[in-house]
Amino acid sequence: MNVCEKGVIFALSYELERLLINGLFILLPIFIFQMFWVDRNRVKPDLKMPAFLGLLILSAILCMSFPVEFSKGFLFDLRHIPFIIGGLYGGYLFSIPIYLAILGYWFFFGGDGIFVNVPVITLIAVCVPLISKKYLAQNMKKKIILSITIALISSLLIILLANMLWKIPVNHENFPFYYFIAQGLSMWIGVYLIETMVRNYQMRKELVKVEKMSIINQISASISHEVKNPITITRGFVEALGDEESPEKRREYIGYALEELQRAEDIIQGFLKLTRPEEPCLKNINISKELAYTVHLLKPYAKSFSVKIETDGIENDCFILGDSQKIRQCFINLIKNAIEAMENGGKLIIRLKTSSGKVLIDIIDNGVGMTSYELENLQTPYFTTKEKGTGLGMVIVFNIIKTLKGDIKVKSEKGKGTHFTISFPLVSR
Ligand code: ADP
Ligand code: MG
Repeated sequence: MNVCEKGVIFALSYELERLLINGLFILLPIFIFQMFWVDRNRVKPDLKMPAFLGLLILSAILCMSFPVEFSKGFLFDLRHIPFIIGGLYGGYLFSIPIYLAILGYWFFFGGDGIFVNVPVITLIAVCVPLISKKYLAQNMKKKIILSITIALISSLLIILLANMLWKIPVNHENFPFYYFIAQGLSMWIGVYLIETMVRNYQMRKELVKVEKMSIINQISASISHEVKNPITITRGFVEALGDEESPEKRREYIGYALEELQRAEDIIQGFLKLTRPEEPCLKNINISKELAYTVHLLKPYAKSFSVKIETDGIENDCFILGDSQKIRQCFINLIKNAIEAMENGGKLIIRLKTSSGKVLIDIIDNGVGMTSYELENLQTPYFTTKEKGTGLGMVIVFNIIKTLKGDIKVKSEKGKGTHFTISFPLVSR
């Protein structure tokens, strides 16, 4: 290989590098936009479009700053890509500022290609926004075909004008051909990424909406199901009152009806607490005592499931900042679940220990265990695998632990059992 050939290969690889950098400048605004704007809810929606416009201008200017010169006199870059994308997605609101930015760049920094380029970019600035509305109504495939066609036409115009004004042959060492291909390919990748980004964003929004609707459905189904029972019973007693003569019986019926009405009220209160958790009343509490109390309370329940409870360390006093009502509610839910997981009896281990400024409480059962799907849904309101379950117990547990600045971990294996570990920061007595 002689020196001249080596020189050509070196120049070619240098220009290829520049071409790749140009490609990167096309991708950059799309990625930056996706990272910092699309998914950030705190960014105001009316700031998103100006941000995208700014990024497109930046991309066009960066492309112009690093042009590719495959052969002496044939200089090109991919500035048309962000420019056409701007015109297609933002109409004149985008194409005019990008147009002015490109002209401004020329004005301040100069450039040789001005006579070839100005007619083409003016044509893009005027014509592309005209089809913007139609373009936006197409599906992804048609958008890609349309945008590539525009990009190819613009590159052809450049090649023809360069031929007419500078007498650069249209087959000049194949370089116009490379430009043509690079322009089409970059447009394809750019539009494909934008469309995928928009589609993912819309899908996520749709998903959140569906999820909200399903929670509303679940809540209303659950409330009506729970409240219907006491109402039906009350109605029965009130009807019976009309036919009843004996004052004693009437008093008894009124008592039952009032009791059922109270139950309905409690159920509604319970739902309200779930959606609007009240502020806990934080005090120094002896968590060991609360745990021992709950275990004592649930012993008869465990017995009815033939579950043996084994405790370890719960007699040692440990203090945390908490709310004894809430802590009890939390223990009751966890221990009840563990007992219910062992329908045919089993052993429930409840262990309390301290370690590096924390109190750790293990609740271990050898019951039915959970699949990974069940584990994932543990915090989902109304998720239950039990016939008479409410699916609210664990939601309450997670909420309480969060408000008391504690932590909860769970390990579970289907058919083997479940191990919950909850921890709270210790405080001095
Ligand atoms: P519920 O007890 O009314 O079903 P929870 O919110 O208390 O509602 O529990 C939700 C689900 O989590 C249960 O239906 C059960 O499938 C699963 N679960 C919770 N704790 C355990 C456990 N210790 N072992 C097995 N499954 C459990
Ligand atoms: Mg439960």
